[in-house]
Amino acid sequence: MKFLLLYNPVSGRSSFKGNLEKIRKIFENSNHELTVYESKAPKDLEKISFDKSSAYDVFLVAGGDGTINEVVNGMMESEIKPILGVLPGGTANDIAAILGINRSIKRSFDIFFNDQPVLIDVNQINDQYFVYTASSGILSRVSYDVSRRHIKKYGYLAYVIAAMKDLALDYRYPIKIKANGATHECECVMVLGLSTNRVGGVRLINFSSSKLNDGLFELRFFKRAKTMWKLRFLSSLIRGGKRLGEDLHLVSNHFVIETSDEVNWNTDGEFSYKGNVEIKTYKEAIRVFASEKTIKKYL
Ligand SMILES: [Mg+2]
Repeated sequence: MKFLLLYNPVSGRSSFKGNLEKIRKIFENSNHELTVYESKAPKDLEKISFDKSSAYDVFLVAGGDGTINEVVNGMMESEIKPILGVLPGGTANDIAAILGINRSIKRSFDIFFNDQPVLIDVNQINDQYFVYTASSGILSRVSYDVSRRHIKKYGYLAYVIAAMKDLALDYRYPIKIKANGATHECECVMVLGLSTNRVGGVRLINFSSSKLNDGLFELRFFKRAKTMWKLRFLSSLIRGGKRLGEDLHLVSNHFVIETSDEVNWNTDGEFSYKGNVEIKTYKEAIRVFASEKTIKKYL
């Protein structure tokens, strides 16, 4: 098979270049073909993924969630789509973790060379595609607000510090949602949408039992409780994303959300839109390589 390895040299804490030699050797000892493309500018990978979609059998993406998101956005615009394989290499690697691909290059290539790919859903927010999460409100800015300098210096701790600062702020915003033929209105502190139960490096085991190929996305609307909303919000997170009585949890393939213009939406860890959004799910839109454990758990 023809593989195109796509990577972003400024993604993650450590350089991917060291692994490149290792990967070249693996290909030399196989009957597969490798081409390497290094990203040169933001959104560069989206363009190359669209242009090269029909020229390769597999896109191998080395990087974090943001890099994978770019590649998926390029692939989705093309009718012919290669299989997606990921090699975790960013600071946030939720997608790789969801797919059960860890940092062992040898084990990853066992899957890429020997296993059959599986079909998973892809979601869309307004005009952009995303793989696993969309959120607004409290904590949702943390993943893109933390500076690269702080990440290099402190690693995961940089996110923890930013989360604690964000938790000190007050949040409340109006939300009107249309889904499954019904309309709901509430005042929220956070909206969290997930395609599985993993986000920000943690598993919210009580969030949902959502599958990656059911054509559905799940949104939790954390309401602003009259008293001690922060404590209630945190206790829900600590209990694995357990739904509190007053919160709204919706499952659908199509949501229309109206909110105020200042509300920021985060998708796959990056800023995407402000204000009103429409979220759709495309069932089994791309083929990916995943571990056996992931296939059992999420498919
Ligand atoms: Mg689903």
